[in-house]
Amino acid sequence: KPILEIKNLEKVYNETTHALQGMNVSFHEGEFVVIIGPSGAGKSTFIRCINRMIDPSQGEIVFDGIHMEKMRGKSLRKQRSMIGMIFQHYNLIGRTNVIKNVLHGRLGHMSLMNSLCGRFSKEDIQEAATLLKQVGLDEQMYKRADELSGGQMQRVGICRAIIQHPKLLLADEPIASLDPHSANKVMDTLYKMTCERGLTCIVNLHQVDFAKKYATRIIGIKAGRIVYDGTPNDLTDEM
Ligand code: ADP
Ligand code: ADP
Repeated sequence: KPILEIKNLEKVYNETTHALQGMNVSFHEGEFVVIIGPSGAGKSTFIRCINRMIDPSQGEIVFDGIHMEKMRGKSLRKQRSMIGMIFQHYNLIGRTNVIKNVLHGRLGHMSLMNSLCGRFSKEDIQEAATLLKQVGLDEQMYKRADELSGGQMQRVGICRAIIQHPKLLLADEPIASLDPHSANKVMDTLYKMTCERGLTCIVNLHQVDFAKKYATRIIGIKAGRIVYDGTPNDLTDEM
């Protein structure tokens, strides 16, 4: 049974831009899927529809057996707490230290009172520290996030997503702002951290070489439609 099923998903912006034109696709446990396609193909729109940062115009989004396409309020927040997000620009709080940034991944699981006061449990703090060690940032734990390099910031972003204990991880252009060395390190980290946990990961990339290096499955999107869905090996050059 798939962890995520997308049926006939469409997104129209401003009644004119057909960003997604009937997407049908399913994702299974443990897959590391890379979505590739030129700028404007609809990759970002696709990711944002899945976690309902934007409303789809039509279609179904079934995550963990539950329809999310029309969900709102508390039930949407609960579903979202099971979806980890990784962003191109990291979305860390710069003036806050690294370990607290990681702990923010727990907020969706905490009582309102504890989350407002930033009262994290001992277990959460221990886990945050362990994750930071695993991604090679034990020495940066108490630095302000804005003192880190881009590659380091994204590794913090990965820890923040993992500590959520999500069933699905979505990454929208996680390495687009990084040099090749840091990009490799971030992709290695993302791959390792998700594989170890058997997590399903969907990553938007525009670099085909990185897609081929890491993906267990590649989905090619052009003009809001899926034009390729298969193994990295069968991908032809024109994608
Ligand atoms: P990609 O991530 O592959 O670069 P996007 O999903 O960002 O593609 O964009 C798909 C299409 O939707 C493009 O034509 C883009 O200009 C348009 N688009 C994206 N976001 C918006 C928005 N908020 N309002 C209007 N049009 C948008
Ligand atoms: P990256 O993933 O970006 O390559 P590394 O962990 O390999 O990060 O860091 C390489 C070294 O460069 C580290 O010692 C790091 O502290 C340092 N470094 C790089 N950029 C910065 C920066 N903007 N501020 C502080 N240190 C930096």
